[in-house]
Amino acid sequence: MFHKKTVTFRAIVLVLFLLGSGWAGAFDLAAWMQALDAPTIGGSVALDGPLDLGWITVEPGAGCTVRELRANGSRCGLFFDGPGNLVVRVTDRFMVPVAMRNIKHATSLRRASEQDGSLRIVEPLKGAVVWGLELPVPAAIGGGGRATQLPGWLSKILDDPTFAHPSHELAEQAFAGAHGTVYAIFHGNHDDLLLDQDPVIDRLEELYVIKKVPSRNPVNGGRAYVLPVAAQPMGRHWWDHVTAPMVATAEDLSVNNTKAQRVTVRAKMKLRTTRGGVGLWRASLVQRTYKERNVYPVAVRSVLVGGKPAPWVHQDGELLVRLYPAPAAGATVEVEVEHEGDLAIRPSGDAYWALGTWPWYPQPPLNGELASLDIHVTVPDSLTAFASGDTVSREAGDGKKLLHTHLDGPVQFPVVAAGDYHVFSDTRDGVKCDVATYVFGKKKAAKLLLDFFFTTIKVYDGYFHTPYPYKEMHIVEINQWGWGQAPPGVIFITQEAFSPLSNTINQIFSQGVNERIAHEIAHSWWGHVVKMDSTEEQWLTESFAEYSAALLLRSAAGSDRKGKRLFTKVLNSWKSGTAMLGDGASIYLHGYMAANDEADTMDRIRVLYNKGPLVLHAIRLRLEKKLGAKQGDRFFWALFRAFLKHDGGGFGSTEDLVGILDRITGDDWHPWFERYVYGCETPSLK
Ligand SMILES: [Zn+2]
Repeated sequence: MFHKKTVTFRAIVLVLFLLGSGWAGAFDLAAWMQALDAPTIGGSVALDGPLDLGWITVEPGAGCTVRELRANGSRCGLFFDGPGNLVVRVTDRFMVPVAMRNIKHATSLRRASEQDGSLRIVEPLKGAVVWGLELPVPAAIGGGGRATQLPGWLSKILDDPTFAHPSHELAEQAFAGAHGTVYAIFHGNHDDLLLDQDPVIDRLEELYVIKKVPSRNPVNGGRAYVLPVAAQPMGRHWWDHVTAPMVATAEDLSVNNTKAQRVTVRAKMKLRTTRGGVGLWRASLVQRTYKERNVYPVAVRSVLVGGKPAPWVHQDGELLVRLYPAPAAGATVEVEVEHEGDLAIRPSGDAYWALGTWPWYPQPPLNGELASLDIHVTVPDSLTAFASGDTVSREAGDGKKLLHTHLDGPVQFPVVAAGDYHVFSDTRDGVKCDVATYVFGKKKAAKLLLDFFFTTIKVYDGYFHTPYPYKEMHIVEINQWGWGQAPPGVIFITQEAFSPLSNTINQIFSQGVNERIAHEIAHSWWGHVVKMDSTEEQWLTESFAEYSAALLLRSAAGSDRKGKRLFTKVLNSWKSGTAMLGDGASIYLHGYMAANDEADTMDRIRVLYNKGPLVLHAIRLRLEKKLGAKQGDRFFWALFRAFLKHDGGGFGSTEDLVGILDRITGDDWHPWFERYVYGCETPSLK
């Protein structure tokens, strides 16, 4: 946390910095950002002690000179040229065990010690570069010092990284009303580390270890990437949510697959500001696509704000758009982005492509997208297109097919797919379901899937007292093995769902395929009726979908005894998955568990798909214990139903869940959640 007494001083520095950067008219955002990413080195700075950044301290050692970094006519940071120490204090009690785990699994850091519930990490440094427009240090004196350019170790990291350059964070500070942003790279004896501190917008400080993609990787070899070491909320609890500066309220996306892999996207986004002084919109936008050893760039052609050209930068998988003058709080701004690239990648020569949940359009952050949706797709007439939303029209002619879909919203991460598909449809109780089978018309499998879908949404409606939220569902076969995904109104599911038992590999993957489809269908509620605004809340989608699927299989088993046996089998798999987790596996903080290898990646999956549903079952058992089996069960369903009704299709949160539990039971559930959801403990099921 920044010390309050220095705020005024830093605010004045920021104003000077902005005045020097030439704001109005033809402001060159790209040049402004580029200067920050490659700053020049100025005079020495006499520090009267270590640089104290709250949870992190940089202690220059003997022989270390501290120099100013300069860009756009002002100081933008400090360069520690020479040895020293980095001291990190992790005091957040939920993060300490996760950070301990990360240090052990993913770093070479040697000196980490736990005391009185907090964690202290000391790493000897060879150098450090700290960006910040308001660092609380005196002005430079003289030229002094050795270095005239930034060190080689830094350029190796910042030459084409897989994460954002410092200018992205600093642009947010300069133009979107952030303050006290710090971005630093530490060149340690054992590891290089990255610090990202944002007290206003994310209200989060994060420490990462920097790794390199192995050079044998044909497309990304040598690029730097980061894994989380520790993170702490700033001036809030983990469960206090952060509002995005701008929220997309309407998206009109035109997708034109002109030929082969080539796609042009025109995205018209209506963005509402949640506060004043937001002069920058930051979205994710894919920078390149891959197929085998080939890399294809994605190029932004134009960006209009309110119909007029505006400064923008497309770099490191992000699109930053300058809004000038900054719109008032609650104002709506229209941003129109046109970009083009080989987005329609057909995997291994297949005849389909999918613009999935990745940022193929300027995708707002999770907490910045609650949009109504219009999608217009144009494809060659050899393909059939699908898109999130209910069909407004399908037209054909002139060698092309056109599809227009619409949803009133709010919607997050819409998708589009097209390919050589046979479509089997049915409409029951006002809901239409398309099953699209790849290349071959798999009529029998499609009919089974249609029956399964309609039966499942009826059962879920019975459980949740909330109907399936859309008028249409498109279940699209993906010609791969072993996964499923459920964006709004679409399910991508791999081929074993369409031809169970046709061959051996199929048999391996089709085990549990019904459960997987039941899981994907459950996302229409857990993910789309209740949305997540951060990865912390991802268990509300994955663990709830997993638990719902298990309940569905239990009730569809035919007999009560068979159902119980099936459920026990699933429950046992959750238990054994949870038992494999080891220390530092928090459901809420799973996104901060470093996935350094396959085992770590599996652990993150186990937290969401095993431990999460296990915790839901523990809540159910706790209710049954307190109120008796029948009443406890009634309260459990009441919890699900109240949770789905809480916010009209907006963001759900774990705190809502705690609040509903408190209300229906009259108990205080927060301590329980602090142990098993926010913290790393596993509840007993006895
Ligand atoms: Zn899922």
